[in-house]
Amino acid sequence: MFPFSHTHPMLDVIVPHALLPAGWAEGVRLTADAAGTLVRVEAGAEPDSAAERIEGVALPGMPNLHSHAFQRALAGLTERQGGGTEDSFWSWRSAMYGFLGRLTPDDVEAIAGQLYVEMLRAGYTSVAEFHYLHRAADGGRYDDPAEMSRRVLAAADASGIALTLLPVVYMTGDFGGAPPGEGQRRFLLDPDGLSDLLERLAPELDGGRRLGVALHSLRAVPPDAIPDALAALERVSPGGPVHVHVAEQRREVEACLAWSGTRPVEWLLEHAPVDARWCLVHATHVTPSEVRRLAASGAVAGLCPTTEANLGDGIFPLRDYLASEGAIGIGSDSHVSVSPVEELRWLEYGQRLVGGARNVASGFPHPSTGRTLFEAAASGGARAMGIRAGALEVGRRADIVVLDPEHPVLAGRSGDALLDSWLFSGNRPSVRHVAVGGRWVVRDGRHPSQQDVLARYRRTVRGLA
Ligand SMILES: [Zn+2]
Repeated sequence: MFPFSHTHPMLDVIVPHALLPAGWAEGVRLTADAAGTLVRVEAGAEPDSAAERIEGVALPGMPNLHSHAFQRALAGLTERQGGGTEDSFWSWRSAMYGFLGRLTPDDVEAIAGQLYVEMLRAGYTSVAEFHYLHRAADGGRYDDPAEMSRRVLAAADASGIALTLLPVVYMTGDFGGAPPGEGQRRFLLDPDGLSDLLERLAPELDGGRRLGVALHSLRAVPPDAIPDALAALERVSPGGPVHVHVAEQRREVEACLAWSGTRPVEWLLEHAPVDARWCLVHATHVTPSEVRRLAASGAVAGLCPTTEANLGDGIFPLRDYLASEGAIGIGSDSHVSVSPVEELRWLEYGQRLVGGARNVASGFPHPSTGRTLFEAAASGGARAMGIRAGALEVGRRADIVVLDPEHPVLAGRSGDALLDSWLFSGNRPSVRHVAVGGRWVVRDGRHPSQQDVLARYRRTVRGLA
């Protein structure tokens, strides 16, 4: 349990600057109820002895819509050429399989614990865990098939971050029902196994935790398993989110074309009930027609720019997608970076590098690139997580990030320039306070258990080395 306490006092603060749905506001009082929901968002508030005055700039906390927690401990270990052949996503994937083959449930809990504290301190307030490490190292089931899921839940609970757990269906090694390889045996879960897992986990869920499902990819989930997986979710967590990796790599697009005659995003739009509950993770390689149809479906494009750059995936056509009013969110995915600043910055910079233009996201709808990207990722991210958050608004969860007003990057800035300066200037951390569900989890840049969590992480990583 989180050290501060679960029966926290009601959050009630006045901040000098806050980004509200209607725009920037001054002297904003934010009050949450005991369930962690915002019940008052009032600009121009009079000083009140009941409300704590906090200096800084209040923003909605950022949802992190795509995470494979265990990969945090692999970051930095795959940055050298291996085996004499050209390195690629696929050689990285082999290294990743080798690494995860050794992980125990204790290891996973320790790694996720460190990761989630890092996320909170960086300004992420919720995370969707695309969780596919279901089985023991030999491919057998744990005595409790939900063992690994429970470790992820425990790490999230200890850190205070809100979690949407997405157990992943994984059945085949490639398109057309190819058998899974040895490196994939820890992932295997069919719709019956999913149904069982969801039922075991359902009693664990409360206000800060949501259940959805993930289909690993069209490589790993045969078409006839999709309706069964969705039906299992509907029984346990009606309306819960559905995530899928799609069109991340050119080779995947070519294999999908060879298998079905259609491209991966096109195939999904034609064969699955893709709507606003869905999050298509990466969707990197899409045609103009796929861009328009994906945007019109209401699904969220789950963009992970630092991982996509690290793996050499390619560049998502952001401008055309935003022009079609498509929804986006960001994820730190493989955790080569754990920072909403870096994800949003590189989302924009990738576009600038290939397009030879500046401020590519500007105008959708704000002139400010930073505000456009931040608000889009906050609201789209919340939708993809199946939570009411992503804006400082009555009725939404009190997930709040307060930027440090003393930070040199923010000196002399106001309004949208605050966000532009935070996102596009320097790399010193500037998050001062963070609340999740009306509960402070970071104050003055510190998380109350950061030292213990780090000590456990260090022991774990040394043991794995
Ligand atoms: Zn992923």
